[in-house]
Amino acid sequence: MGRQMIAATGNPEKMVEIRQILAGSGIELMTMKEAGLDLDIIEDGNTFEENALIKARAVARASGKMAIADDSGLVVDAMGGEPGIHSARWMGHDTSYEVKNREIIRLVDEFCADRDEDAEGEPGKEPGKEPGKETGKEPGPLRAARFVCAVAVVWPDGRERTATGVLEGRINTKACGENGFGYDPIFYLPEYGMTSGQIPREEKNRISHRGQAFRKIREILEEEDG
Ligand code: IMP
Repeated sequence: MGRQMIAATGNPEKMVEIRQILAGSGIELMTMKEAGLDLDIIEDGNTFEENALIKARAVARASGKMAIADDSGLVVDAMGGEPGIHSARWMGHDTSYEVKNREIIRLVDEFCADRDEDAEGEPGKEPGKEPGKETGKEPGPLRAARFVCAVAVVWPDGRERTATGVLEGRINTKACGENGFGYDPIFYLPEYGMTSGQIPREEKNRISHRGQAFRKIREILEEEDG
């Protein structure tokens, strides 16, 4: 195949992840820098999918090559879906995730307290998981949240394809775990009895919203003929 594709990201960690998922697909992945592109793309879409498309379209248009972009974030039901598409810049780019995570817990605690649900959640009861020990009390259903990732591929001939991955969880009652990044320490995974900041990295990649979306896009790329 030997097709070239430009990733619309300046984030080296994302490049590593995208390269791993596309390994063996015959696609030669390039960074914007490698392609000599220096674009200031305004992500003014209203959804993850729109923002991924905005980025991929801009890069495909500027380079004349196939482009891939993703957009992701944390959607918290008790916060009306925020921080959502604003996840990276929520409370300001320069605010630490320690502060952001504390604020999300506070807002969700408040929401639960207003609804008379025990804001601390229920003590975990599932055998072998002991969330009470590892993560505090088991977060209740009012604390539902999800990580969402949309990936878009745009061809220079105007074709566009998108795929979305979702990881369901709950906002934990305290921050836990050193793995992962961003909102991982407060994102409780009921099936694991721990946060995504506590599960091993490989496991996170296996189940993550990003992993799901990029694997779907790989299948789509294999169906398309170049
Ligand atoms: P993006 O790079 O514009 O897609 O921004 C995504 C933002 O959403 C990140 O800066 C994080 O704040 C948050 N986010 C997305 N995926 C994850 C994840 O897997 N763990 C923790 N935070 C995430």
